[in-house]
Amino acid sequence: MKKLLKLGLVLSLGLTLTGCGSGNSEETITQQSQTIESLEKENKELTKTVSSLEKSVNSYKKEKQAETKESKEAETAKKKQAEEDKAKAEAKKAEEEKAKADAKKAEEERIAAEQAEMAKKAEEERIAAEQAEAQRKAEETRVAQEAAAQQQAAAEAQAQQTAQPAQGESVYVTPTGSKYHTHKCGNGTYTPATLEEAQARGLTPCSKCY
Ligand SMILES: [Zn+2]
Repeated sequence: MKKLLKLGLVLSLGLTLTGCGSGNSEETITQQSQTIESLEKENKELTKTVSSLEKSVNSYKKEKQAETKESKEAETAKKKQAEEDKAKAEAKKAEEEKAKADAKKAEEERIAAEQAEMAKKAEEERIAAEQAEAQRKAEETRVAQEAAAQQQAAAEAQAQQTAQPAQGESVYVTPTGSKYHTHKCGNGTYTPATLEEAQARGLTPCSKCY
């Protein structure tokens, strides 16, 4: 910008000088000197203007630079924020996934515990059924044994009864003995009697005769 202004100044100066013809009078020289002075003045003013403009431009550049810096900083801050947000979002996601995994694990453990409890109950029921069955069998065995014992007792009673003399039969008794006999059994005075008479006296059958 400064260069352009200077070039323009030099050109206009040259044109002024050549355009004035070749008059050699003192008046003309004075006029030219005045023109040069005026041009120099103008040049100074222009230089000032240029300097002021340059200052403006510099300040504008600085401003612009500051703005650029600010915008860069803002961009950096934005990027940082975005990264932070992303990191936060990822952390949140990871947390959510962990919570999900935890819940799944807890559910699996609950199911496992439930199954274990069911298996335990089934085993307990099986054992109880086994014990009931064993008890039932023991009871059956006891009843069967009891029945057999009763049967045996009945059979024994039957056998004893069979061995006993029939009603109306004649037996032999002694005056002092406590038994009755089928015949004169050993020493003593045996007299015949009916079974009813002997039993009425409280006599029992002799083990040798019956
Ligand atoms: Zn006898």
